[in-house]
Amino acid sequence: MAKWLTGEVIAVEHWTDTLFSLKLKADISPFKAGQYCKLALDIKGERIARAYSFVNAPESDYIEFYLVNVLNGKLSPYLHRLRPGDHVWITEESNGFFVIEEIPNSDTLWMFATGVAPGPYLSILQSGKDLERFKHIVLVHAVRYQQNLNYWPLMQKLAKQYQGKLIIKAVLSQDHHPDALSGRLPGLIANGALEASIGLSISNQNSHVMLCGNPQMIADCRDVLKYRDMHKHLRRRAGHITSEHYW
Ligand SMILES: Cc1cc2nc3c(=O)[nH]c(=O)nc-3n(C[C@H](O)[C@H](O)[C@H](O)COP(=O)(O)OP(=O)(O)OC[C@H]3O[C@@H](n4cnc5c(N)ncnc54)[C@H](O)[C@@H]3O)c2cc1C
Repeated sequence: MAKWLTGEVIAVEHWTDTLFSLKLKADISPFKAGQYCKLALDIKGERIARAYSFVNAPESDYIEFYLVNVLNGKLSPYLHRLRPGDHVWITEESNGFFVIEEIPNSDTLWMFATGVAPGPYLSILQSGKDLERFKHIVLVHAVRYQQNLNYWPLMQKLAKQYQGKLIIKAVLSQDHHPDALSGRLPGLIANGALEASIGLSISNQNSHVMLCGNPQMIADCRDVLKYRDMHKHLRRRAGHITSEHYW
């Protein structure tokens, strides 16, 4: 049984009508960058709990989540209404294997996120532990519109901090920007446009690919990568792809 603690909302940022970030204070146990915990609210007599990935590094003195208000969702519309000073349930322990220690060595570590799913990567990159073994790290954030790139300033700051080792790229599926790629991630891998724009290749000889967020994007990327003989990484059988589905 999960042990529930009270978290206090210390800040809320409403980026768009549906996208928002919550900052909390809560006395949770230490977690690993890339993991998630559960948030819950008691709604009409029932405790409704869902998983959310940390955006902050484990060393941080606050907890941060990046969320979307899912239309007719059972929990997210209520989290969307929270204000500073409100309280939310949070699990004491965190979970998940989408963490850097589970990733095998490679020249290039590709971090692909859709929508609200860059959190695990931002936590890993802000923490900065165990990343020396990768020559390059490429963080790709795929969203519909430019307005959905709410963590772009943090990504730019991290890219500067990593002094050329970290390359960031935005992908817009329904919008255009001179610095971003337009299209869907699986298509941009299949036609080579992503690699051309970065100047690095994705192959089973030099890369490990992390996929986070929309299950359809994950399935489609895995299908495309299969043609390059890249497969799911398992503890018992080394591979080249590690993923975290958000639903
Ligand atoms: C490991 C893990 C980490 C997660 N981290 C985050 C996170 O950092 N931020 C976040 O917002 N969500 C995250 N999620 C999703 C989250 O747990 C909930 O599923 C989401 O908030 C919807 O809950 P709900 O009760 O409002 O919707 P529900 O009533 O449970 O409805 C679920 C339906 O909403 C849709 N849905 C769920 N998530 C999304 C989404 N992100 N975008 C579009 N549609 C969606 C799907 O169709 C799903 O079937 C994570 C999920 C997992 C498993």
